[in-house]
Amino acid sequence: APPSPLGDLLQTITFAAEKHIHQRRKNALKTPYINHPLGVAHILWFEAGVEDIATLQGAILHDTVEDTDTTFEELERHFGAEVTRIVKECTDDKHLPKMERKRLQIENAPHKSDKAKLVKMADKIYNLRDLQKEAPEGWTRERVEEYFVWAKKVTDGCKGVNGRLEAILAGIYAKGP
Ligand code: NDP
Ligand code: ZN
Repeated sequence: APPSPLGDLLQTITFAAEKHIHQRRKNALKTPYINHPLGVAHILWFEAGVEDIATLQGAILHDTVEDTDTTFEELERHFGAEVTRIVKECTDDKHLPKMERKRLQIENAPHKSDKAKLVKMADKIYNLRDLQKEAPEGWTRERVEEYFVWAKKVTDGCKGVNGRLEAILAGIYAKGP
């Protein structure tokens, strides 16, 4: 097939689906995990008007290194330097304790590239909407509320790159969990 952004996108979706094959979301239905990265890219295209292919690929791949055996070398080989950099910017350091990772997300958000900020905002929108539908099993009301407070601190640091995502987030935080 000739080189095409559509082909690139299909390769990306297929790669991510294969990588997340054994993973499920933390909801009662145990939704296949791939629905999440696809949903994040869907938000970017349909709700934020983002047409940049590398950003959409970054969204589709954003949890592959954090949550599966995928390496950055592998991403680099398949999808090139720019897509890999976006994923890297959206990946927590697994060697750090969970609380430290959460603190670093807040601290680092303002210093990320515009493309990574877009993915991070859409990622939080997807997760916050999930939490508005139902709390994951074992989550107290308080834990859901804390997630909203933390997510706002992260997305506040991503402001200035897409007004539509900012408006969606403002609506979500106004409504709350
Ligand atoms: P987690 O980081 O454990 O879970 C939230 C993440 O799960 C989301 O960012 C999302 O990440 C993913 N996810 C999968 N399914 C869903 C879904 N249906 N809805 C929303 N998100 C989903 O939780 P916290 O951030 O709250 O906690 C981090 C740490 O702090 C944990 O170790 C926890 O034990 C501790 N903690 C405990 C509390 C308690 O009350 N016991 C309160 C607060 C924190 P992705 O985009 O990567 O899929
Ligand atoms: Zn995610």
